[in-house]
Amino acid sequence: MWSKNCIAIGLSGGFLEPLESTSIDLIQSGILNLIALFPEKQCAVSDVDEYNRLMDLEYDRIRDFLMLHYVLNQRDERFWSDMREMAWPGSLSEKIEVFKRRAIVPQYDHGLFQPASWLSVFIGQNLIPEAWDPRADSMTGDDLSARLQHISKSIESRVGQMSDHLAFIEKYRATFAGSRAGAE
Ligand SMILES: Cc1cc2nc3c(=O)[nH]c(=O)nc-3n(C[C@H](O)[C@H](O)[C@H](O)COP(=O)(O)OP(=O)(O)OC[C@H]3O[C@@H](n4cnc5c(N)ncnc54)[C@H](O)[C@@H]3O)c2cc1C
Repeated sequence: MWSKNCIAIGLSGGFLEPLESTSIDLIQSGILNLIALFPEKQCAVSDVDEYNRLMDLEYDRIRDFLMLHYVLNQRDERFWSDMREMAWPGSLSEKIEVFKRRAIVPQYDHGLFQPASWLSVFIGQNLIPEAWDPRADSMTGDDLSARLQHISKSIESRVGQMSDHLAFIEKYRATFAGSRAGAE
């Protein structure tokens, strides 16, 4: 995406199929990586290589996540059975294998999709792990239910602090209408 003194960001750099919308996030990553590696007077090859490495990581990880929807599908139609048969990148096979074997969910810094997204597609497509991290066995049932209750209460309390959807939109509509009236 970065070659000599030319950089392609957004659709000029690449596009991944829109099953999950990723274009705007990739534009944002492209801008942030460019700011971090912004050239002084000349473009250093090492900066160019690093930029391209980071952007490749972003694209590869999104590609794996998109492909996961296809390779784990359980539909009977010809299209979907063909999709199950397609060749998967090694990086996706590894992610599927570690999840299947011991419930480890992909986690990384450079990449849009975080554990909650991976988990929802693994479990949502019925890939149930055969085992789990043995460290989890050190927790008693009581400890586990206390921890789950703690998580549940903390979600409830955060949600309780938020306004509902309509109130949120009304608040921003009023602010926007006010600033437009001021500008006119
Ligand atoms: C309906 C819709 C919904 C979408 N929803 C999402 C979403 O939810 N999440 C998400 O991440 N992405 C979404 N996308 C995709 C995302 O919006 C686009 O991929 C992104 O805006 C592309 O930005 P860009 O700057 O690369 O290209 P563009 O926004 O297409 O900008 C290219 C610019 O170049 C100009 N141009 C073209 N040719 C020339 C020329 N010869 N000389 C000078 N200027 C030229 C064009 O006029 C345009 O202004 C959606 C897209 C659509 C259409």
